[in-house]
Amino acid sequence: MKILVLNCGSSTVKYQLLEMPAGEVVAKGNVERIGEPVGILKHKTADGKCVEITDQVFPTHEAGLNKVFELLLAGTVKSLDEIKAVGHRVVHGGEKLTHTCLVDDSIIEAINGVYPLDPLHVPAHVIGLNVAKKLLPNAPSVAVFDTSFHQTIPEYAYLYAVPYKLYKEDHIRRYGAHGTSHMYVANRMAKILGKDIKDLNIITCHIGSGSSITAVEGGKSVDTSMGLTPLEGLVMGTRCGDIDPAILTYLGRTKGMNADELDELINKKSGLLGLSEISNDCRVLEEGVEKGDAASIRAMNVFNYRIVKYIGAYAMVMGRVDAIVFTAGIGENSPYVRGEVCKRLGLLGVEIDDERNDCHGKERKISTDASKVDVWVIPTNEELAIAQETFDIVNR
Ligand code: ADP
Repeated sequence: MKILVLNCGSSTVKYQLLEMPAGEVVAKGNVERIGEPVGILKHKTADGKCVEITDQVFPTHEAGLNKVFELLLAGTVKSLDEIKAVGHRVVHGGEKLTHTCLVDDSIIEAINGVYPLDPLHVPAHVIGLNVAKKLLPNAPSVAVFDTSFHQTIPEYAYLYAVPYKLYKEDHIRRYGAHGTSHMYVANRMAKILGKDIKDLNIITCHIGSGSSITAVEGGKSVDTSMGLTPLEGLVMGTRCGDIDPAILTYLGRTKGMNADELDELINKKSGLLGLSEISNDCRVLEEGVEKGDAASIRAMNVFNYRIVKYIGAYAMVMGRVDAIVFTAGIGENSPYVRGEVCKRLGLLGVEIDDERNDCHGKERKISTDASKVDVWVIPTNEELAIAQETFDIVNR
C-alpha cells in the first residue's frame, strides 16, 4: 500500500511516497519558496528520473501539492486513489497530543491549540492537514508528533524549577524534539544488535544544524536535551543551546533588547555561527580546524564539549550504557566530531576505531570490538518512521 509522507513548513513541502510495509521509496521531493514570486520543485522517482521546476509560481501549499500530484500521475501512479494514507510530520503535540493518531477535525483543532508553543510550525501543519483532506478525500491522514516519543520522560526530568503554576497554567515544561528520529535510530540499533530494545540502554545523538541527545532506557525516552522549544541543550548551527537564563535579562536591562531581538540573538545569531563569527556550517569550521584557524577551533571545542557533557549526564541517568548512536547531518558525516567526542568517553569504556570511524552517511559500527559500549553511525530516516507509524494506525 502506498503512503504519502508530508512535512509542511511555512514555505516548503517535503514529501515521500513509500510502498509499505516494504518501505521502498517510490517518489520523493520538495516544493520550496511557496508564496514567493518564483517557486522551486524537485521531484525524483525510484527509476532515477529527476524533474526540477524553477519557473513556476506556487502561491499556496495546495498549488505546490497539485503540481506534485500531476508529476506522480505522469508515470508513478495511475490514480491518486492508489495513495491509501497520508502521514503528516507534526513538530509539536503539546501536552494533549501524546500519540500518533488518525486525524479528524477535532485533532486539527487540537494541533491549532498548540500554536502558542510552536508558532513557527503549527500554521503550516494545519494547512498541510487541510490540503491533504481536500485533495485526497479518500486517504486517511495520520499525525505523527516529534514530541510523542518523549512523553515517557518522568516528571522530575520534564519539570523546570520555576513556579509550578507556570506548568499547570501555561504548560511550560520539557517537550523535546526530533522524537521520530531518536525512536527510529534506537529501534534500528536494537535490531542490528539482535536484542529486544527493552533490554538496552541507548544514547542517541541527533547532531545536525539542529541537535539533540536522548537517553533511551528500555526503548523509552527518559530524558532529552531539547526543552520547551528546540533551543535548549546542545550548541547548534545558529542556536545557543544551554545558557544562563540571566544572560537574557542582563541584555534586556543593559542593552535595552526586547523579546524579539533576544529571540533572534539566541536562535539565529548564536551557536557555531555566533562563536566562530565565520559560519554555521560544521564542514566550513572543520576545514578551519584543519588549518589551525583559532575561531573555528574555539567554536568546535565548545560544540564537542557540550555533546560530551550530555552523554556523560545521560550515562549517569540510566546507570548503564549499551550503545551510543550518531545520526543526522553532522552525526552521520563528521568523523572529526565523533572522534573528538568519543575520545573523552573513556570512563564509560568507549573505545573508538579510527579506521571504522572514517565513514560518511553509512550504517556502521565505529567502536572497537573490545569497546565496552557499542558506538554506531545510523543514518536517520524520519520519513520511513512516519510511514511505518501511519501504516500501523490505518491497519489497526
Ligand atoms: P537539519 O537540522 O537542517 O535537518 P541536517 O541534519 O541536514 O540538518 O544537518 C545539516 C548539517 O550537517 C550542515 O549544517 C553541516 O554542518 C553538517 N554536515 C553535512 N555534511 C557534513 C560533512 N561531510 N562533514 C561535517 N558536517 C557535515
